[in-house]
Order: sequence, then C-alpha cells, then structure tokens
Amino acid sequence: MKLTEIKEVANIGAGTMGHAIALQFAMNGYQVNVYDREEEGLQRGQKLIQHDLQTFVKAGLIDENPEQVLSRLTYTTDLKAACQNANFVIESIVENEEIKKSVWAEIEKIVSESAILATNTSGLSPTALQIVLQYPERFVVAHFWNPAQLMPLVEVVPGEKTNQETVDTTVELMNKIGKHAVPLKKEALGFVGNRIQLAVLREAFHIINQGIASSEAVDDIIKYSLGRRWNLVGPVASADLGGLDVFKNISSYLYADLANQTGTDPALAKKVSQNELGLKTGKGFYDWQGDTGKEIVKKRDQNLLEQLKTDQNNS
Ligand code: NAD
Repeated sequence: MKLTEIKEVANIGAGTMGHAIALQFAMNGYQVNVYDREEEGLQRGQKLIQHDLQTFVKAGLIDENPEQVLSRLTYTTDLKAACQNANFVIESIVENEEIKKSVWAEIEKIVSESAILATNTSGLSPTALQIVLQYPERFVVAHFWNPAQLMPLVEVVPGEKTNQETVDTTVELMNKIGKHAVPLKKEALGFVGNRIQLAVLREAFHIINQGIASSEAVDDIIKYSLGRRWNLVGPVASADLGGLDVFKNISSYLYADLANQTGTDPALAKKVSQNELGLKTGKGFYDWQGDTGKEIVKKRDQNLLEQLKTDQNNS
C-alpha cells in the first residue's frame, strides 16, 4: 500500500489514545471511522475529540473551519462499517494480547488484503500479534505517546513478518498527519522510548531509595540539565559532542555502581503495596492532595502546545 492510496482510516478504540489519534487524522484531511465496542466509550471519545479540537482552534493551530474537520469523523459500534472501506486501520484498545489478537483476526475478515493494519500497543510484540493474520506482512506497530494530540513521536516497529513497504508507508503517513515518525530496525521489548524511560526510572528510584537525593532533587537535576539538553540534542549526539573518551572514562567506574536489578522494582513494589499510586490516589513519591497535579498537567500541556506551534512555524 502506497501513501497516495490511503484515503480512509478506521480508528479502533476511542479512549485516551484513540480519540486523539482519530482527531489527528481528521485534522489532516482523512476520512476517519471511529469505532468502539461500547456506545458509552464512543460518546466519551467524541466529546474528547471536540474538546481537543477547540484547544487547537484557540491556539491557532488549524486553518480550516473546525466543522469541516468534524465532518470527516463518523462514529460507530459496528466493526464492519468502520473497517470495510478503510485503507489504514489503527487500533488503540485495551493492552491485552489475547483481546488484541481476537479483534485483529475479526478485522482482517472485513478489510481489503492490501490495507495496512497498525497497533498502538505500548509494548506487546508485533510478531506475537501478527501470528493470527493471514497477511501478516501488512501489520506494524505505530506507537504514539500520551497525550497523543500533543506529543509528536510515533515509533514505527516491524514484526518479524512485516514488510518494508508497510513500515515506509506508515512512516510517511504519520509524518503527513503532523507526527514525527521514527522507524525501528527490528522489534525490542518496550521499543526504544520505554526502554530508555525505564532505565532512567530504575536509577532514579534507586537514588531515592539509597538516600542519595530526594524525589524533588532528582526531578530538578533532570529538568535543569539533561531534560533541557536532550530536547535539543539527543543523548547519543550529546556524548559525541562531549567527547567519547570522557564517557568511556566515566562508564569504566560508574556502570558497575548503577542499579541493575531485574524483576519487580523494590521502590515501586513498596509504594504500590501501600496504595501510593501517585496522582490517582493522592500520594506517590510526591503528595498530590488538592489541585497541584491538575495544574502541573495543564501547564505541561500548554507548554507542549506552544512547542507544537514552534514546530509548525519552523516546518
Ligand atoms: P483506554 O482504556 O483509555 O481506551 C481503550 C478504549 O478501547 C475504550 O474506549 C474501550 O471501550 C475500547 N475497547 C476496549 N476493548 C475493546 C474491544 N475489545 N473492542 C473495541 N474496543 C475496545 O486505553 P488507552 O490508554 O487509550 O490505551 C489504548 C492502547 O494504547 C493500549 O494498547 C495502550 O497500551 C496503548 N497506549 C497507551 C498509552 C497511554 O499512555 N495511555 C500510550 C501509548 C500507547
């Protein structure tokens, strides 16, 4: 399937991720059929789409009449109606391998043989999922980041049976709808973003647990150093700029001292056993009573929106 052949998109699952992905396609000219198995999920998704669209309008990020964007979206609980004419199917349903497999097997009975089938799984193996398909070569991971309407990255990850054309067209399509697609050469557990995020988190929790620094100190250290730099120059290029001999010296004494436990993280296990789950229970590594959490998320999203405007002006 070539990019120019893609006219209609089926968006399976209208939750946190699905609604934002559907909107992204509609804002970029695609006819999108939004499917959810429940009427309630569909209605919630539709409201979120309208809300996020208004945010984009207020920020001056779309040129056309918002009604025109909305007119490209249809909503249905009928999988056949959603998929039968779709050239690209993107799925964001519950993160469960067996459920995803059964939904994909169902979808393949409906779509054309050439349609690209993409899953927004957070970390399930595309090779394991594509096993149920008759034409597995057109199956791929398109891993968006939350909030998907504001975060540019989409990791495009092939399974063992995925062909190169599927990867290439998916990358082109993601870029066309305003995302920044990055293809991986092959699949790995957690893809790349979550591998790096979890490696950093393991060390951050270790530092807090060992009493080396507080949660606030760890977060400040990252925000005011690596966070700023990595937004402009990634860690690998930063190492090149700093001098690889310097990093060789540091790694020779530091690697051996870093957290390297496998299995359950003791710091996380302790928090979870105390029902300290973060914002949703009012306490995690921080105290989240009151509106602090909501305000941080609002400020974060406002900054992400500003960053999108800068990206758009520079493109
Ligand atoms: P969600 O719970 O907000 O939404 C899932 C939606 O799918 C719901 O509307 C639900 O009704 C629907 N659904 C569930 N089972 C279904 C089925 N069998 N058939 C049809 N619809 C079904 O979940 P989410 O956070 O949007 O996550 C969806 C997918 O995206 C998961 O695979 C998740 O791992 C992945 N993902 C999530 C994030 C995140 O931060 N939330 C980030 C990247 C990827």
